[in-house]
Amino acid sequence: MEWINKYFDEIDNFPRPKWENIYEHVETRLKDKEQNELWCEIANAWMLKLKSKLSNDYHIHESKNYILVSSESDRYVELLQRFLESTLRKILATLKGIASDEGYGKYVVIVFNDIDDYYSYISYYYPEDGVFGLSSGVYLNNGYGHFVFPHQDVTYAESITAHEMTHSLLSHLPIPLWLNEGMAVTIEDMITGSAPLSAYSGPFRSLILV
Ligand SMILES: [Zn+2]
Repeated sequence: MEWINKYFDEIDNFPRPKWENIYEHVETRLKDKEQNELWCEIANAWMLKLKSKLSNDYHIHESKNYILVSSESDRYVELLQRFLESTLRKILATLKGIASDEGYGKYVVIVFNDIDDYYSYISYYYPEDGVFGLSSGVYLNNGYGHFVFPHQDVTYAESITAHEMTHSLLSHLPIPLWLNEGMAVTIEDMITGSAPLSAYSGPFRSLILV
């Protein structure tokens, strides 16, 4: 995986993969490798770099379909991993033929314990002068799509996960944003059995779609 090191920029103190170069490298030199395994290794190399920029409390946890980076307790990680795996199965079953998990590599989920780190991380993905409100979590569908959340209690994290996961699994469809959002809210409600996010009165309210 040494080759990958030259394909990162460091912006706002975070490693930012140059996905176009990485894709090109894979296309031209690593096409004969088993692609799913290769993209899991690429995602792991990227998360190792990210981890090196964070405090020592952060760890990389791998489960069947996810690579989770967080500084949360073992119990929190276990609950979230279990929820992530079952949510993936439920969404694919519920939106059979609509939702799609095609593509290589595991899903990447990053949970920041510091809200400033969170905003500094996601600001890279938004236009310089763009206005974006407080956010409880996002699915960043750019390059290697991934989920990013600030720390929140696990029940709340589950709502956000179900919501953002739906966006991710619908991202291949050319449907209008309002419909994409409507489906995400419905699935979130169905899976967590809780009220949609708008019912929460806390400062975190997802204003960023996708
Ligand atoms: Zn949404």
